Amino acid sequence: KPTIVLVGRPNVGKSTLFNRLTRTRDALVADQPGLTRDRHYGIGRVGDRDYLVVDTAGFDPVAKDGIMHEMARQAEQAIAEADVLLFLVDGRAGRTPHDENIAARLRRAGRPVHLVVNKAEGIDRAMVAADFHALGLGDPLPVSAAHGDGVKQLVELVLAPFPTDDEKEHSDDEGPKVAIVGRPNVGKSTLVNTLLGEERVIAFDMPGTTRDAISIPFERGGKRYTLIDTAGLRRRGKVFEAVEKFSVIKTLQAVQECNVVVLVLDAAQDISDQDAHIAGFALEAGRALVVAINKWDAVDNYRRDRLETDIARKLAFLSFARFHRISALKAEGIVGLLKSVDAAYSAATANLATPRLTRALQQAVARQAPPRHGLARPKMRYAHQGGMNPPVIVIHGNALDDIPQSYVRYLERCFMDAFDLKGTPLRIQFRTTQ
Ligand code: GDP
Repeated sequence: KPTIVLVGRPNVGKSTLFNRLTRTRDALVADQPGLTRDRHYGIGRVGDRDYLVVDTAGFDPVAKDGIMHEMARQAEQAIAEADVLLFLVDGRAGRTPHDENIAARLRRAGRPVHLVVNKAEGIDRAMVAADFHALGLGDPLPVSAAHGDGVKQLVELVLAPFPTDDEKEHSDDEGPKVAIVGRPNVGKSTLVNTLLGEERVIAFDMPGTTRDAISIPFERGGKRYTLIDTAGLRRRGKVFEAVEKFSVIKTLQAVQECNVVVLVLDAAQDISDQDAHIAGFALEAGRALVVAINKWDAVDNYRRDRLETDIARKLAFLSFARFHRISALKAEGIVGLLKSVDAAYSAATANLATPRLTRALQQAVARQAPPRHGLARPKMRYAHQGGMNPPVIVIHGNALDDIPQSYVRYLERCFMDAFDLKGTPLRIQFRTTQ
């Protein structure tokens, strides 16, 4: 799934464009208790294609110190990990020296760059095109991020060269694709080594280039799994070692690629914003998820209690997931963790038959009817499955336009219970039938 990175000097409208590019997905996870959004990373969708959007806010390629330097470093990393770069400029302000600096950097990026002129509503396009053509990045594409003009065409143009999802389908007998993600030092590499052991690794291909993610097929308990690597794992003698620095983008790419996310937390640390953001991103991507609270061997009861409280408060939106207390180092809790990975994968790919779905819907509505809004009384008639990974449940009826999020959550819980789905988020859609 392609990664689109937005670059441009401040105030050209990057966050506005970012919001446009990711907005369709936002609505799906609205109002989840405890979920805070990271405004720099998001998922967008056109048709049935997902893409990752990264906003490099405040990129200044010549910043030498302080916070500006740190931002420049992160932007550099984002550029290196991008599949395609969108260089945003301001059509009303015209070409500036700062734009020229950034253009010089991007011409060396070795990635496709699209020059995008924002705030293009009501300006003379020919004149603007001539002005920005001098940046040496081809013809500028006009958009208005604020009004949405040209954004859809832009995305379609940008994504056209990339294969669509079903052109590289995963074959089922390889088992679930599992991504082990988490902050640095929580014990991901240790867990990978414990999972893989040395004999169980089935031969895998080393990547052709450093940018290809590697996947490592292995077998355990008679079942096959494929690990999606997030950190450039390389085999050194008997063990796997991470050879690259932690990368948010690689982590998010792995979340998008996989079927099941294993989010690793460190029992000795409080839940950080970064933990919550990775978890929130997995939810946004609709991924099945299992939480591994690692280093459980190393903490006392006081610490354990404190962590449970912290999790209940900051990761409330993961109520669909199973939590395991494990020790990757001592190989404790691993069997249970893998069982939950299996269960989450089955739940994410479950077939939900229309009669059973409809019965579950009717029972839910009988127990608690959807609230009336205005004069209309919402009527829910039947439900069918609209997709999997995550399961999409389409509810048909009348007056279903303004069903409150709290009622959607209630329905989700009812369907989860009825089908015993554990470990996957659900998506509920409403469709009015005449
Ligand atoms: P990564 O950066 O997430 O891949 O973390 P590593 O796997 O490199 O582990 C970071 C540190 O935590 C290392 O010193 C590990 O030995 C240690 N560690 C990992 N898992 C456990 C565990 O289950 N218990 C304890 N006590 N230490 C662990």
